Amino acid sequence: MLGWMELLSTAEAPVPSELREREQIPDRFKWDLGHIFSDWTEWQRAYDQLETQVGAYAALQGTLAKGADRLLAAMKLLDDIGQLSYKVWYFASLKHDEDQRDNEIDARRQQVQILSAKASQASAWFNPELLDIPLPTIQQWMTDSPALAVYRFALEDLYRQQEHVLDEKGEHLLSLASRFSSAPYDAYAALSTADIKHPPITLSTGADITLTYGQYRAILATNRNQGDRAKAFTAYHELFAANVNTYASLYNGVLQRDWFHARSRGYRSTLDAALHGNNIPTTVVENLIESTKAGTEPLRRYHRLRKRVLGLETYHNYDGAIPIVDFDRKYPYEDVLEWLPPSVEALGREYQSHMREALDGRWIDVYENPGKRSGAYSAPVYGVHPYMLLNHNDTLDAVFTLAHEMGHSMHTLLSNAHQPFVYSAYTIFVAEVPSTLSEMLFLEYMLAHATDERERIVLLQHAIDGIAGTFYTQVLFADYELQAHRLVEDGRPVTAEGLSEIYYNLLQAYHGDALDYDELSRVTWARIPHFYSMPYYVYQYATCFASSAQLMNHLTSGSEADRAAAIERYLTLLKSGGSDHPMTLLQRAGVDLSKPETVRAVVDQLDRLVTQLERAIAKLS
Ligand SMILES: [Zn+2]
Repeated sequence: MLGWMELLSTAEAPVPSELREREQIPDRFKWDLGHIFSDWTEWQRAYDQLETQVGAYAALQGTLAKGADRLLAAMKLLDDIGQLSYKVWYFASLKHDEDQRDNEIDARRQQVQILSAKASQASAWFNPELLDIPLPTIQQWMTDSPALAVYRFALEDLYRQQEHVLDEKGEHLLSLASRFSSAPYDAYAALSTADIKHPPITLSTGADITLTYGQYRAILATNRNQGDRAKAFTAYHELFAANVNTYASLYNGVLQRDWFHARSRGYRSTLDAALHGNNIPTTVVENLIESTKAGTEPLRRYHRLRKRVLGLETYHNYDGAIPIVDFDRKYPYEDVLEWLPPSVEALGREYQSHMREALDGRWIDVYENPGKRSGAYSAPVYGVHPYMLLNHNDTLDAVFTLAHEMGHSMHTLLSNAHQPFVYSAYTIFVAEVPSTLSEMLFLEYMLAHATDERERIVLLQHAIDGIAGTFYTQVLFADYELQAHRLVEDGRPVTAEGLSEIYYNLLQAYHGDALDYDELSRVTWARIPHFYSMPYYVYQYATCFASSAQLMNHLTSGSEADRAAAIERYLTLLKSGGSDHPMTLLQRAGVDLSKPETVRAVVDQLDRLVTQLERAIAKLS
């Protein structure tokens, strides 16, 4: 087993390649924003029109109670403003992302942000004025007017939320309190970035480096010397251990704030308050946590396998990111283009042809150029088509990023084509389902076509690491957040030691004997930004993962008729946009997140992938 491991090259630095200027990149690899507006003059005209519409909307204040046609007029004008906003915002924002050094374009982009703040002030009157009208009256209006009935879900949902809206005095008090509710996160960010002193460390090669977060991640992912990884882990976590009582106080601020808001608005718990907006039952999170904890065996098997293949005596938190094998195949964009449409064959012909349209229609900005925004995204430009920003660099990660963003774009395309504007946007609770599914289908395609055993291993590790990081870790985080919030809900003290104990117990519950535990990993909770910035948010990555694993089962197993029905249900989900609560939409697609078997779909999927990985490794040695 050790023989071929020794042949692995040590972490290699990326080859510095000369960046092409944007003008040197052929047009077919750049998006064409001319589909939105032909030039800035046309943009300016639209901007002016938008400003006029915003003024007109403010002038509608006080009219709603006069009847159905007045309410309809307000809803329609709001749709017009929304539709035009997409184009005005994205034209400036996408242009800005082509080269962020251009100040003139940045100024235009900021101009839209200012107008958008004005627009939300100009429409603040709507909800209170609507909710003053009794719901039965609105329902009668909708019965009488089919044009108004289009807005039924949106309007009735406002009344559903009303239950937790306070009187004017109460709302005013809460809005004053909101001014300091971001203080714990701001202080966390200052302590962890602005005020942090990145420690110097010396690697086994003799190289001295300053351990920034980026360096820390890079060492864990590429440095094949375990001693170096241990050193980086220790130095990095000591930073948080040194201030752990301060972090605990800040996090206590988050917990107390959430509990204050929940109680002020009459929710039973902080979890209830967090899930009510999307009408998600708390059993979804509880089921997610319980079922995942019961399904950790494949995760442990994976880590035991890694320990053996990497030839490590002990296996730690900091050993989880290093590649099992090195494999330096390049994936040029034009090759990937050929593979994407066949990879989604299971979704039917219509879906494939939409994808070809996206690939050939100059919707994608492919390559990096000086000043271009980093990362990747899909931008839903309503009334035009989705645009995708990439920074394709021929790596496997870049390939899966394209598959991921393509999933988002197909969702946007189908939702926009089949929904009235008011329901065209979808919530995060469903957003990561098509992107994850798109990646899963692409993985299947790549595995089926891989000719090199080492490529197969790299692909499997990519998929398994995705499940470990996006599913298991996020559920562990959700579990931690829930337990920490329950401390304050039950009136128990919040201390650094108590929080560390919760975290450490969770690490052990997930990894059992597959991991050797370091005392310093107890303080990991202190450095996770999401805990401070967006409580109860990350679990949605895990529920999306579970949903797409379940959908994947439906799409790829059973009789031909079963599969055809599954495609139909899945496409209906994408075409449904935000026309109902996300749980309802997913249930129609055959996914029930309150059931253990939905979560088990991911556990089973991981189990299969680890088995495949074991076989591929056995073949190689
Ligand atoms: Zn995504």
